[in-house]
Amino acid sequence: MNIKINENFSLIKENYLFSDVAKRVNEFSKANGGRNIIKMGIGDVTLPLSSVVVSALAQASVEMGKAETFRGYPPEYGYDFLREAIKRHYLERGVVLRMDEIFVSDGAKSDIGNIVDILGKNDILIPDPVYPVYSDSNLMSGNKISFVKGCGENGFLPSPVGVEEKPYVIYMCSPNNPTGATYDRRGLKEWVDFALATGSLIVFDSAYEYFISDDKPHSIFEIDGARDCAIEICSLSKTAGFTGTRCGWTVIPEELSAGETKLIKLWQRRQATKFNGVSYPVQRAAEAALSTEGLAACREQIAYYRKNAAMISAVLSEKGVYFTGGVNSPYVWLKCPNGMGSWEFFDHLLKNARIVGTPGEGFGEMGKGYFRLTAFSSYENTLAAVERLRKIL
Ligand code: PLP
Repeated sequence: MNIKINENFSLIKENYLFSDVAKRVNEFSKANGGRNIIKMGIGDVTLPLSSVVVSALAQASVEMGKAETFRGYPPEYGYDFLREAIKRHYLERGVVLRMDEIFVSDGAKSDIGNIVDILGKNDILIPDPVYPVYSDSNLMSGNKISFVKGCGENGFLPSPVGVEEKPYVIYMCSPNNPTGATYDRRGLKEWVDFALATGSLIVFDSAYEYFISDDKPHSIFEIDGARDCAIEICSLSKTAGFTGTRCGWTVIPEELSAGETKLIKLWQRRQATKFNGVSYPVQRAAEAALSTEGLAACREQIAYYRKNAAMISAVLSEKGVYFTGGVNSPYVWLKCPNGMGSWEFFDHLLKNARIVGTPGEGFGEMGKGYFRLTAFSSYENTLAAVERLRKIL
């Protein structure tokens, strides 16, 4: 063919992380038998949808099968009933949003990847380590990326101190994947002040907000000034187990503009052109997840995962292993003991404890020498894993 392709794709490193993990586990299983291996590497939920969500899905599906209640294309920005439910969800944290600032999506990943469509050539600032979609989607667009480094000294919560003062698009993730580290109000305020002072935009990913159990902010809009510098992308994947059901949202405050142009207008145009909305049954399911009964079920599920995370954290504390997360997050991020590298510790854990985790370097340079364990296994498996960890750490 004589067409030109997007050469920027060659800049993206193939992420072999999870296939390398699977390969090593397969090889180990072949040589030693695969019994009793506990998987604590997955970032996917394991508990099923709550009954209130399933009823809403079922009822909406029945409606789709009757002429009187059948619905065709959904509104591209989301049904009002779901936007109302999202608006109420924010109001409970004291955040007032307008309905038209809320855009329903099929999950956070799509919007994180798509937001580059409405932005031009900007300097990009991304924390390291973090969810790789921020950097990969910007590399695909040919943008220049700088990293702010997370490390033991800053508790994997980098601040803007020392960052060159110029406008950036800044990606933030709190609670963070993979470190579980969560900004407090002061930490977020520093970034909001930096963004306001430099004319930067913050893209705030709050996919894990419902795991927060203390008084840390769930939304960037709980911080004064954020409406003038931030958009927020959220999801029901981890809150309500929607990883396979697919629903999330993006909030773009009306105030945000670059020159004369309002970002909300660009996003409306982008979505109307390239997106045809989320299915009616899924939006009814999302509405149910955000109802009083639905949120109570979410809290129960999250309490289950959080208990697993607390068990993992407890054994690490007991053994004097440095870690972050485990409190407001399903992730526990630990420093590999005895100066081991991430992959060295992976092999050590697999061989001596038959536990599979995720080597930290898959999430950025600063992940080298660190390791992620997740709380998404069953309680029984987590308990068994903790006993094994106690023996080998
Ligand atoms: N943001 C972060 C930080 C994540 O870890 C994930 C998924 O693991 C997502 C977004 C993707 O969420 P969704 O399932 O809504 O696409």
